[in-house]
Amino acid sequence: MISRVAILSTGDELTSGKIADTNAQWLADRCSSMGLDVVAVLGVGDHRDRITWAWENALAQADLVISTGGLGPTSDDLTTETVAALLGEPLRFDPEVANRIRAMFRAMGREMPENNLRQAYFPESAVVIPNPLGTAPGYRASCRRGGADRQLVVLPGVPREMFRMFDETVGPWIAGSIDARTVVATRTFQTFGVSESALDERVGGVIRPDEARISYRASFPKIAVKLMLRDLPDRAEGRIEELAGRVRAELGTAIYGEGEVSMEEVVGRALTGRGATVALAESCSGGLIGHRLTEVPGSSAYFIADYVAYSNAAKRDILGVSATTLEQHGAVSEEVAREMAAGARRRAGATVAVATTGLAGPEGGTPEKPVGTVCLALSAADQEVSRRHQLWGSRDWIKLLTSQLALDWLRRWALGLSVVESGFRK
Ligand code: ATP
Ligand code: MG
Repeated sequence: MISRVAILSTGDELTSGKIADTNAQWLADRCSSMGLDVVAVLGVGDHRDRITWAWENALAQADLVISTGGLGPTSDDLTTETVAALLGEPLRFDPEVANRIRAMFRAMGREMPENNLRQAYFPESAVVIPNPLGTAPGYRASCRRGGADRQLVVLPGVPREMFRMFDETVGPWIAGSIDARTVVATRTFQTFGVSESALDERVGGVIRPDEARISYRASFPKIAVKLMLRDLPDRAEGRIEELAGRVRAELGTAIYGEGEVSMEEVVGRALTGRGATVALAESCSGGLIGHRLTEVPGSSAYFIADYVAYSNAAKRDILGVSATTLEQHGAVSEEVAREMAAGARRRAGATVAVATTGLAGPEGGTPEKPVGTVCLALSAADQEVSRRHQLWGSRDWIKLLTSQLALDWLRRWALGLSVVESGFRK
């Protein structure tokens, strides 16, 4: 039975930093989505002793080792002879595979270099994994290590060939080798406003490690929390739903969505649900909020206008911010943000408007208003709110955080939640 997997990538181009190991990332995602525990991701260059080292370490940790790369016809492709040595098996020539390689070259009208037949040799016990897109097939084999059965899967390095072979042959075979009585159940929560360590503390406080695997994926400013468990089919869903209920109760409105959903989609749905239309008045975010809202197909149903009013003159002329307010409080102030939001809402005839004005840096900060000072305001018939936030980081980061805050305000307003509870801590 397979539950622990190690992924092994071979090639000098990986260890020299010439290319990123996207194969390993792709395989790790596939395997963990199947509920497998990926215990290690290893990468080594094209050296026999290093490849052997990686295989031995991988086999010591995992029931299944999936390798990519080093299956080509050239002398630096060492995977097959290393694996055969590891298995203690001689290589066998597979005439069927050889004919197929010859036929592929013929079909392309090319002469086949003799060394291409290296790809028709396999460890004696190997089961060939067809490669519909290229010359080098993969294979699988098994051996004993540490008193247990280990499975070895060997695939070529070319990503599109490897993807197809995995999805057509390897994936289904793994699915049949996983504890067939149980299924995987998962729940993913998209959150904003709670730091990764705080999330860990709070989720860890309501779910024990033996109840589900908890993982966090931070692609700031959003952090996804994922729960995963394996159980009998009639129990898995009920159990994960019970755990999900605890997470929802604990994190409350910091969760903006479940599953693979983006903040901008959630905002779109919430506005549609409320029958509301939106306008924006953007200064420091420079149109980013509008850009993000319009990433969602169908956003024309609720998105009316985005006024990017960068200069004081534009804030006055386009949004009707009063010269006195600008003079008294400065462009980066809650007062100006409020007038910007009100002006955008009026001008567009929208149900709700959000405004941003701030200092994205790196220059221009003062002791009273350091770089990262960002004022947000929301204007709607039922409320006018503003808040000053102290954000941090580089210019693009401050713009991104500002847009995330603004979208979270819109989400909260549309759902009838408290807008000012939206915040962001490091
Ligand atoms: P072949 O030589 O028959 O093409 P192979 O199994 O020997 O297949 P490699 O020579 O190692 O594979 O790599 C072939 C191509 O795949 C190269 O372009 C390489 O950049 C790419 N590649 C190899 N390994 C990886 C990896 N781990 N992630 C992303 N791309 C990879
Ligand atoms: Mg190679």
